[in-house]
Amino acid sequence: MSKFWSPAIRSLVPYTPGEQPKVLNLIKLNTNENPYPPAPGVEKALQAFDMDRLRLYPDPEASKLKTALAAYHQLDEKQVFLGNGSDEVLALAFMAFFRHDAPLLMPETTYSFYEVYCDLLNINAVRLPLNAQYEIDLDDYAQPNGGIIFANPNAPTGIAISLSKIETLLQHNPDTVVLVDEAYVDFGAESAISLVDRYPNLLVTHTFSKSRSLAGMRIGAAFGQAELIEGLERVKNSFNSYPLDMLAIEAATASVEDDTYFKATCQRIIETREKTAKALSAKGFKVLPSSANFIFVTHPDRDAKEMMQNLRNEKILVRHFTREGINQFLRITIGTDAEMEQLIARL
Ligand SMILES: *Cc1c(COP(=O)(O)O)cnc(C)c1O
Repeated sequence: MSKFWSPAIRSLVPYTPGEQPKVLNLIKLNTNENPYPPAPGVEKALQAFDMDRLRLYPDPEASKLKTALAAYHQLDEKQVFLGNGSDEVLALAFMAFFRHDAPLLMPETTYSFYEVYCDLLNINAVRLPLNAQYEIDLDDYAQPNGGIIFANPNAPTGIAISLSKIETLLQHNPDTVVLVDEAYVDFGAESAISLVDRYPNLLVTHTFSKSRSLAGMRIGAAFGQAELIEGLERVKNSFNSYPLDMLAIEAATASVEDDTYFKATCQRIIETREKTAKALSAKGFKVLPSSANFIFVTHPDRDAKEMMQNLRNEKILVRHFTREGINQFLRITIGTDAEMEQLIARL
């Protein structure tokens, strides 16, 4: 605490990201990064980049990437928003759409950054418990609100909900924004982007950090009708006009242009996930059904935190959350087959 801090920041509890170790040769299964490199075209695009261009500011609209993403998702460019990682896109969306008198509704167990934004922006949130199967029950969200946010698949459970349930929620909640955070959608859930044209209250966010192997470049996107995107642009241009640097724009565009590589790496991760889930179930773990690039597991006779520490001693990093209700679970990122075999052997 310092006397120089504004009163508003004194009570903040910032988000704690997973460890990025300084030492190499660890098996890193703690932050849901992709074990495979970005598409080969990304390296080509970066090598071909003319360094002299770095003297100039980047395109504030990142139009090249917007065009590529709009074409990929069959949307209009006015329905695409870009930011410096989806964390930034989410922060701008909270500012643009969730600062109302009525509370923001979100799952009690979900991406913990959401409540950090609420603290920062003074947004009153109501956190709704998951059901006994650790699923989000959207029926609970039929109540007055200043917005709704959830991740699909949810984090850290990995459990997805169906598009038809999301559509019902959108129909029953026409007056506030429903934000669906699809950070992990490419690993087996249905995207709500197909609903954008029909629901002016829907905003969907994506990230290039997980399925596109570009966490180090910080690229996120939002998809929604032009009115919502314009709201995001207003906040963005009141904060930072150039969230995407030139190299990020080139890398992300090259990634979008290689759909074959993208689909193949996602499929590989899905197959490794299913194999790992099966092997851990056979060892007595309860593995929640995951549609993401991680699994959320618990063991009836083993303490989760102790397992996390033992794995760390064996140079394997996994994520443990201390929050009550999920503190006997480990969140394990899906790595390569070889990495998962080592993990299974240690467990
Ligand atoms: C990883 C993650 C993000 C953030 O992604 P970045 O684009 O790397 O900022 C957002 N939401 C969820 C649920 C995530 O797991």
